[in-house]
Amino acid sequence: MSKTTKLLQAANFAARRHRRQKRKGENGEPYINHPLEVAHLLTRIGNLKDTDILIAAILHDTVEDTKTTEEEINEMFGKAVASMVMEVTDDKTLPKAERKKLQVEHAPHLSDGAKQIKLADKISNIEDIADNPPEDWSIERRLEYIEWGENVVAGLRGVNENLENYFDDLVVKAREKVKA
Ligand code: NDP
Ligand code: ZN
Repeated sequence: MSKTTKLLQAANFAARRHRRQKRKGENGEPYINHPLEVAHLLTRIGNLKDTDILIAAILHDTVEDTKTTEEEINEMFGKAVASMVMEVTDDKTLPKAERKKLQVEHAPHLSDGAKQIKLADKISNIEDIADNPPEDWSIERRLEYIEWGENVVAGLRGVNENLENYFDDLVVKAREKVKA
């Protein structure tokens, strides 16, 4: 199968799995917009060419947020993709606060592929926090999210300078917008 076919197979699969989900902002965008944006950031800003990383980016929330399993991804897209998806999947049996703490602690130990996916994920979410935030989030909660994102990203540095610089500029702009 060609690389393009595999990429589009992943986009098609993720779109179907996320089909009933919406992002939390008041625009209520289809959920799939987010993983597609994460993959697009990786190529456009991060200059990534590795198809497995791009596929894992497209699939990065399927196990966490839909009934998709590691085994399914392993069968369809192979072990490298499945293991990167699992690296960026939170354990949903843990309380929210614990999961947030673990993301900060685990970040430095991720593979280079998973680090870049996580960095693009935080970029996409903080862009949303600035421009299309979850409904009912106070200014304080939005600022707390940005700060937590910075703490996670501190552990992801050293792998993709373009993404890191883009993140650093974004955080300054996002804080200005949230406070305005
Ligand atoms: P959530 O984890 O509930 O929501 C953020 C996540 O939602 C993102 O990481 C993203 O994950 C997804 N998401 C979906 N739509 C959007 C969007 N439009 N913009 C941004 N993200 C979106 O929230 P928190 O990160 O705040 O986690 C809960 C924590 O917040 C708890 O630890 C609690 O203590 C604290 N809290 C704070 C409050 C306050 O006022 N300060 C109030 C209540 C709780 P993905 O990439 O996976 O889609
Ligand atoms: Zn995500």
